[in-house]
Amino acid sequence: EWLESIIATRQLMLDSHEITCEVRGDQREIKAHLDQQRLGQAIINLLENSIRYTTKGGSIFINVTEEQNEIIIEIKDNGIGIGPEDLPHVWERFYRVDKSRSRESGGSGLGLAIVKEIVEVHGGRVEVQSQEGVGTSFYVILPKEEEPV
Ligand code: ATP
Ligand code: MG
Repeated sequence: EWLESIIATRQLMLDSHEITCEVRGDQREIKAHLDQQRLGQAIINLLENSIRYTTKGGSIFINVTEEQNEIIIEIKDNGIGIGPEDLPHVWERFYRVDKSRSRESGGSGLGLAIVKEIVEVHGGRVEVQSQEGVGTSFYVILPKEEEPV
């Protein structure tokens, strides 16, 4: 429900790009100590990237899985993907893969650096897997039952 409420804030952007977004998970209720505002911003950054770097008619899935010690939120798109030479750098401030295309879409290259910082403040970590022309999965991995600091 929390993730669906975040998606709802970007419904107009999804509609204008003709992209669908669906939350999937095996469990309706997962308990976690988190800063809803900040972590919500991280999810929005990832969602906006998936929308921006996916062509019309694409689909995004947000998959939530609960492991023994962690919660994994995967944001998966079937967009343009990221090549192996760029993939390790996407977390760097101001790093953008296609400078000309990126300039056109108007971002600053800070979104993922902010995501990484927010997730790490939660005691978690981020991962990415991608294939050019196939799509990208970003992972937000959070520790379970982390007590508030
Ligand atoms: P902004 O500061 O507005 O978020 P940005 O989207 O360019 O600008 P990041 O979100 O940090 O910056 O992403 C860095 C780069 O990684 C992007 O410019 C893009 O090239 C690539 N990228 C990020 N997410 C995806 C994705 N889901 N699919 C393909 N490429 C992506
Ligand atoms: Mg971005």
